[in-house]
Amino acid sequence: TEELLRKSEMLSAVGQLAAGIAHEIRNPLTALKGFTKLMTSGGPNESYLAIMSGELERIEEIVSELLVLAKPQAVEFLPKPVPVILHDVLLLLDTQAIISNVQIETEIDDSLPMVNCVENQLKQVFINVVKNGVEAMASGGKMVIRAVRTEEGMLKISFTDNGSGIPAQTLAKLGEPFFTTKNKGTGLGLMVSYKIIENHQGKMTINSKEGAGTTVNIVLPLLG
Ligand code: ADP
Ligand code: MG
Repeated sequence: TEELLRKSEMLSAVGQLAAGIAHEIRNPLTALKGFTKLMTSGGPNESYLAIMSGELERIEEIVSELLVLAKPQAVEFLPKPVPVILHDVLLLLDTQAIISNVQIETEIDDSLPMVNCVENQLKQVFINVVKNGVEAMASGGKMVIRAVRTEEGMLKISFTDNGSGIPAQTLAKLGEPFFTTKNKGTGLGLMVSYKIIENHQGKMTINSKEGAGTTVNIVLPLLG
């Protein structure tokens, strides 16, 4: 019976996720359908196209986040240096940080051993976490990224921002699919990140204080 209970819980979780996905994708699809109708009846097409491309982008974003949850078919775990991955990600997010008036400080030990990982997946996690931090500092701020080896021989990466922080009742909801407090959020970034880190035998935890800021900790096994 325990087995049956587990299965039925799993199925209902799958059902809930499917319902969420269907709902989130149907909204932009409905909008797209409406605009294509408007366009076939002849109108000022250019302004419609901008909205349509925005809606398509949203679908693309949702689908690409969710693809990570699909069964790992072609993904290959390879030894990679996380400091290099972190620096690559920061290069990618540099302009966004500058625009948002966010200063990013790093204390990354470049001599750390490799991590057995799917590079693109770790990249996706770091992008999600840094973006969240930047988005939490609406009027600018500072993010500190540290990467060190712990006494237990693990890699610990921490991302600390001095942004809005997260209220206690919200903290419990982080990682739930589609949970977002943002107008244009997907609410998938953290769920996917938790999943990826778990697939890497690691652990992700979030500490936060409303009004003070947030720290996201990621611990991963090091090769050596
Ligand atoms: P999204 O960014 O699309 O909203 P996420 O899964 O990345 O989805 O994050 C879910 C929610 O967690 C955000 O909407 C926000 O409320 C909260 N959150 C995540 N990271 C932070 C952070 N660094 N500071 C404040 N709130 C955060
Ligand atoms: Mg996010």
